[in-house]
Amino acid sequence: MSLLTVGTVAFDDIETPGGRAERVVGGAATYIALAASYFTKDIRIVSVIGDDFPTEELNYLQSRGIDLQGLQIRKGEKSFFWAGRYRNNMNERDTLITDLNVLADFDPVLPDSYKNVPFLMLGNLTPSVQQRVIEQMQQRPKLIALDTMNFWMNTAMESLQVVLKMIDILIINDEEARQLSGEYSLVRAARAIHAMGPRFLVIKKGEHGALLFEGDQVFFAPALPLEEIVDPTGAGDTFAGGFMGYLAKTEDTSFENMKRAVIHGSAMASFCVEAFSIERLKTLTEPEISDRILQFARLVNFD
Ligand code: AMP
Repeated sequence: MSLLTVGTVAFDDIETPGGRAERVVGGAATYIALAASYFTKDIRIVSVIGDDFPTEELNYLQSRGIDLQGLQIRKGEKSFFWAGRYRNNMNERDTLITDLNVLADFDPVLPDSYKNVPFLMLGNLTPSVQQRVIEQMQQRPKLIALDTMNFWMNTAMESLQVVLKMIDILIINDEEARQLSGEYSLVRAARAIHAMGPRFLVIKKGEHGALLFEGDQVFFAPALPLEEIVDPTGAGDTFAGGFMGYLAKTEDTSFENMKRAVIHGSAMASFCVEAFSIERLKTLTEPEISDRILQFARLVNFD
C-alpha cells in the first residue's frame, strides 16, 4: 500500500567527534522515504526545495520508487539548510544553523493522486503545515503518524495540540515525551499523551532502543549495540520510515504487527548511523536487512 510523507528535503553540515561532512543530503522526508522504500515501492513526498538541489539526488530518490510530484522546486531560492555538531557521547547534539530558506513560507499542496493514500507519515515540521496536509486528504488515511520536536512545543504548543487530536501515532524521543506531558515517568507520560489524542505512541530512546505504547500495553525494542557510530543524523526519521514502510507493506495496524514494525524501524536506524548522510541507506541490500532483523531477534531471545 502507498505511503505519503511530508517533511524537509535538505542540505546538512554535520560535525562529529570523528569527522565532518559538508552540504550533504539530509532532511526528514528524505530519510523517511528512503528507509520506507526498502519495504514498499509506492512512496510519495510532499516538500519544497530550491533549484540548488542536485538533479542526480532527485533521480536517485525516483529510482527507489519515490514519487516526487508533490515536491515543489522554487526557482532562484535555496533549500532548507541545517548544521549540527555532536558531543563526545554522540547522543547529544547542538544545532549550529537552521536556515529555513524555502521552508519559511511553505504551503503544502497535495497532488490529487496523493489524496487517498492510506498511510501518512508527517515528518517534523510546523504543526500547522502538518495539519494542512491532513485537511487536504479526501479520505481519512488508515494510519496517520506524526513526528515533532521540542522546538514546536516551545513555539507552537497550541497548534501542536490541535494536530495531535487528528493522528493515530506519535513518534518522539524520551526528552520530548517528558516535555510534552510534564511527566518524568515514561509510563505516566504515555498515559498523558494518549489523552491528548494519539492511540499509539512510540518513544525513541536513542542508543537505548524504543518503547511502543497502546493503552496499558507496552513493548520494548532494544537498539543494536554497534561498535562504531559515524553519524546519528536522520536515525529518528529512518526509524519512522522503516516503521511506516513495514506497516504499509503488511497492511496490518494491530499492536502485534506494530511490534514487528518497531523492530524493522530499529534495524533501519542501525544502518543509518554507520555512515554520514544517506550514504549507508543507499548501499543496503535485502539480505543485509533480513540478517539484521535476525540479530535483533537474537539480542532478546532466551529460554
Ligand atoms: P533526526 O536526526 O532524525 O532528528 O533528523 C535530522 C534531519 O532533520 C536533518 O537531515 C535535518 O535536515 C532535519 N532537520 C533539522 N532541523 C529541522 C527542523 N527544525 N525542522 C525540520 N527538519 C529539520
